[in-house]
Amino acid sequence: MKIVMIGAGYVGLVTGACFSEFGFDVTCVDVDAAKIDGLLRGDIQIYEPGLDTLVANNRKAGRLHFSTQLAEVVPTADMVFIAVGTPSRRGDGHADLHYVYAAAEQVAKALDGYTVVVTKSTVPVGTGREVRRIIAETRPDAEFDVVSNPEFLREGAAIDDFMHPDRVVIGAESDRSREVMQSLYRPLSLREVPLVFTDMVTAELTKYAANAFLATKITFINEIADLCEKTGADVQRLAKGMGLDGRIGGKFLHPGPGYGGSCFPKDTLALIYSGRQYGSPLRIVEAVADINDRRKIAMADRVIDALGGPDVARGKAVAVLGLTFKPNTDDMRDSPSLAIIPALMGAGVKVRVYDPQGMENAKAEIGVGPFYASSAYEAIEGTDCLALVTEWNEFRALQLERVFGMMNKPVMVDMRNIYNPEEMRSAGFTYYGIGRGYKGTTPVIQTAEAAE
Ligand code: NAD
Repeated sequence: MKIVMIGAGYVGLVTGACFSEFGFDVTCVDVDAAKIDGLLRGDIQIYEPGLDTLVANNRKAGRLHFSTQLAEVVPTADMVFIAVGTPSRRGDGHADLHYVYAAAEQVAKALDGYTVVVTKSTVPVGTGREVRRIIAETRPDAEFDVVSNPEFLREGAAIDDFMHPDRVVIGAESDRSREVMQSLYRPLSLREVPLVFTDMVTAELTKYAANAFLATKITFINEIADLCEKTGADVQRLAKGMGLDGRIGGKFLHPGPGYGGSCFPKDTLALIYSGRQYGSPLRIVEAVADINDRRKIAMADRVIDALGGPDVARGKAVAVLGLTFKPNTDDMRDSPSLAIIPALMGAGVKVRVYDPQGMENAKAEIGVGPFYASSAYEAIEGTDCLALVTEWNEFRALQLERVFGMMNKPVMVDMRNIYNPEEMRSAGFTYYGIGRGYKGTTPVIQTAEAAE
C-alpha cells in the first residue's frame, strides 16, 4: 500500500515514519522546501526522542521518502493523509482550516484511481464533510472516500504513543474505506489495540472531547491545589487519594502552571466555538480555558511574591528553568513560560532562562529581554529566585549545595512539585511548591461572614 502524508510537521513526520515502520511505502510532502531539504539530508528539525533513528532506518530500507511535489506523488497513492496545521484563527479562536482546505483542493486535482483521503489533523466537527465536498467539486470524476482519523499522540512520547495507542478512532462512512483502514492498522489490531469505528462527525468530536476532558482534569487539580494552599492540605497526597479511585485515575492530576502546547489551548477554544456555533455551549470548557489563561499570569505573581512583592522584586534576578510546554520536546507553542517571562520582565525583574531543547524556539518567540544561558547553572548564577517551570529530568537532580552557593538568595518556586519541601527547607532554601503550603502550612479557615 502506498501512503502520502501531506504535512511533515510533528504529526505528519511521526505518523509517516511509523507507517513506514509497519512496512508501508510512505512519502511525506511539505510546502516548506527547507524542511524537506533537511529531511532529505537526514536533518530532523524537531526534537522527538527516537524519531531520528526511526526515520534513518526506514529511509535506508527504502520505505520512507520526502518531497515537495504533491502533484507528482498523490496519483500513485492508495491513501492520502492530511496532517497540516490547524492553528487558532485570529479573533475568534476557532480552528483555522485554510491549510486543510487548500491541501484538499491540491490533493483532489492530483487524484488518480480509488484513493482514501484521511484527515489526520485535528479538525472541527463537519470538516470531513467539507473536505469531501471540495474534492467532489474540484474533481467530479474522482473515485475517493474521506475518512476522519484523529491523532492522539503526545509530543515527547510520540512514537511510543503511535505504536502502542489506547485506541484508534476511525470515522469511515463506506465499507470500502473501512476495509482500507482496517488493513492499515492491522499491525496494531493484531496486538489487541481497539479500533473504534464511527462516522466522521463522531470521530472529529471525539478528539476534541478527549482533549477538553484532559484540559479540564488539569484545571480541576490546579484549582484544588489553590484550595490546598489556603487550607494547609497537601495536593500531592490528595491527588494520590483521588487518583487511586479507578473511576478517576491518577493521570493528569499533577498541578502546575497551567496547560500549554500545540493542542489543548487551541483545541479547547475550537470546541468552545463549535459549541456556540451549534447552539450547545460548553460552559465547563469555557471556564477551563479562562481559568487556565489566568493561571499562567498568576504564576508570575507567585514568583514576584517569593521575591518579596512588587516593590522588592524590581531589579531582582530570577532564573527560569524550562521553557517548553512540557519536557522532551522543543515545542514552545502556548507554553506557560511565554506568559510568565513577559509578566516578570514587565514587573522589572531581570530574567535568566535555560531549557535543554527549547532555546532556539524560545529566542524566536520571546526575543531580546531575558539572558539566554547555556546551562541550568549559568541561568541560576547570581539570582534571587529559581522558578522551575518545566520538569525536564536534568532539573530533577540539581546539585543543591552548588545551587545554594550560587544564588543571591536561595528561593525556589517549584511549579512542578519535583522537589521535596522538607528536603529543600533543610538544605536552606525558601521553597514554594504548588498546593503544598504556599501560604504557610497553618490552615486558614475563612468563613463566609469573615470574608465579607
Ligand atoms: P506542524 O505545524 O508541526 O506541521 C504542519 C506542517 O504542514 C507544516 O510543516 C506545514 O509546512 C505543512 N503544510 C501546510 N500546508 C501544506 C500543504 N498544502 N501541503 C504540504 N504541507 C503543508 O503541525 P502539527 O503539530 O504536526 O499538527 C498537525 C495537526 O495534527 C494539527 O491539526 C494538530 O492539532 C494535530 N495534532 C497535533 C499533535 C501534536 O502533538 N503536535 C497531536 C495530535 C494532533
